[in-house]
Amino acid sequence: MTQRTLSIIKPDAVEARKTGAIVSRLEEEGFKVVAMKRIHLTRAQAEGFYAEHKGRGFFDELCTFMSRGPIVVMALEREDAVAKYREVIGATDPAKAAAGTIRKLYGSNVGENAVHGSDKPETAVREIGYFFAGFEV
Ligand code: ADP
Ligand code: MG
Repeated sequence: MTQRTLSIIKPDAVEARKTGAIVSRLEEEGFKVVAMKRIHLTRAQAEGFYAEHKGRGFFDELCTFMSRGPIVVMALEREDAVAKYREVIGATDPAKAAAGTIRKLYGSNVGENAVHGSDKPETAVREIGYFFAGFEV
């Protein structure tokens, strides 16, 4: 079934000028970019996006990281997009990610891991709605 997922190229990968390489890889993997923008989140906007992680030990570090520089946000479409995207990015910790995955290639550590991906189809709908207005997707 055709499905959508939210992708974020995080500040570390944007700083390292890996945006093009990552978008190119995602297109090669069969994803259609249905919406895309580059933005610099405020701290409050980062906290809002990661609200589910509030209270976890890494929440503060995560929100500081995600608001330290521009990110590139995309709504991606493909068959089985959520699961397929997570396969292409690899495990949260780049050290544990499979060879050839985006996090293995471009991530530095469990916090600065190059990209975000939705974890479930319902989450994807909410996350796409956080960044894009209805007429943009
Ligand atoms: P994923 O992004 O793979 O879905 P989580 O939803 O568990 O992973 O965590 C969200 C983000 O929080 C991760 O992508 C990473 O940037 C950061 N993070 C997760 N675990 C840690 C940790 N132990 N220490 C620092 N940052 C972390
Ligand atoms: Mg997650």
